Amino acid sequence: MTNHIAFIGVGNMGNPMADQLVKAGKEVKAFDVSPEVIKIAKESGLNVVSTIDELLDGASTVISMLPEGKHVRSLYLGDKGILNKIPKECLIIDCSTIDIETSLELGNESKKLGIKMIDAPVTGGVMGARIGKLNFLVGGSDEAVALAKPLFDIMGQKILHAGVQGSGVGVKICNNMSLGISMIAASESLMLAKRLKMDIKKVHEIIKAASGNNWAMTNYTPLPNLTDGVPSNNKYRPGFTASMMRKDLRLAMDAAQSVDASTPLGKAALEIFSKFCDEGDSDTDYSGISKMIGGDAWN
Ligand code: NAD
Repeated sequence: MTNHIAFIGVGNMGNPMADQLVKAGKEVKAFDVSPEVIKIAKESGLNVVSTIDELLDGASTVISMLPEGKHVRSLYLGDKGILNKIPKECLIIDCSTIDIETSLELGNESKKLGIKMIDAPVTGGVMGARIGKLNFLVGGSDEAVALAKPLFDIMGQKILHAGVQGSGVGVKICNNMSLGISMIAASESLMLAKRLKMDIKKVHEIIKAASGNNWAMTNYTPLPNLTDGVPSNNKYRPGFTASMMRKDLRLAMDAAQSVDASTPLGKAALEIFSKFCDEGDSDTDYSGISKMIGGDAWN
């Protein structure tokens, strides 16, 4: 028993999260399926293993950080899934932002095998991951969450326990629907001010202090040179891609449909981000939506 952490999916988020664990003295074995990502992970000093057996043998915790529900499903579940190979005493922490149904299925299948599993998607983005300041939105039993806490404390700043397993992804989906809408709201109001030929720096300062403020306006400002350290200052390099936002808005719309919830702004936000992605900006940071909204007035 090596008692190591098996970290699966070391892309934009997983790499810096695993790195924080290593820096805190944890033994981490990393695994990914993308040769390009594996190369970067090795260059950044992670111990990348090439087989699932090597990854899981003696692991005490499995953390996964994968793009979508279909990836989580194919990794863990079904005939070729790894769930059957995971040691019983292991804790599974799935940090991916995925649909509630897949997360619950993974939780139930794990439970049948006597393995504890929690869902713990994050907010804070790549910047938060790099400095160990993520927020974990967690669903699972008190006992399992307590087991994960020392690792969350290394990778994050807040542990927000939403309720039973599945609640973490539930709250994440609701949060990101609100975020997608607020990013569009911030972009529309700043671009309107630009077209009105107002002093954009003053407008930004005033809205931040007034009732139209939101998180995107203050912390992830979609127009350049208003806030330090945000993707709009760096040609909208992600960050959090527009395609990830589209995925999360789709998750929100599917969830809304499943319970007959009214979400007209969520629906509009999905249409706007889909258009942006379809026009070739899938890999642009989601705050780049301001360019599409601003059109020729953006510059
Ligand atoms: P990413 O695409 O950069 O990384 C995901 C990695 O998973 C990739 O390297 C991919 O090769 C790997 N992968 C896929 N299937 C695999 C499998 N079966 N086995 C091993 N590896 C596999 O994505 P990301 O930006 O790191 O995002 C990961 C998750 O975190 C997503 O659900 C996203 O919505 C969420 N998230 C991202 C951000 C952000 O700012 N990027 C912020 C919050 C939440």
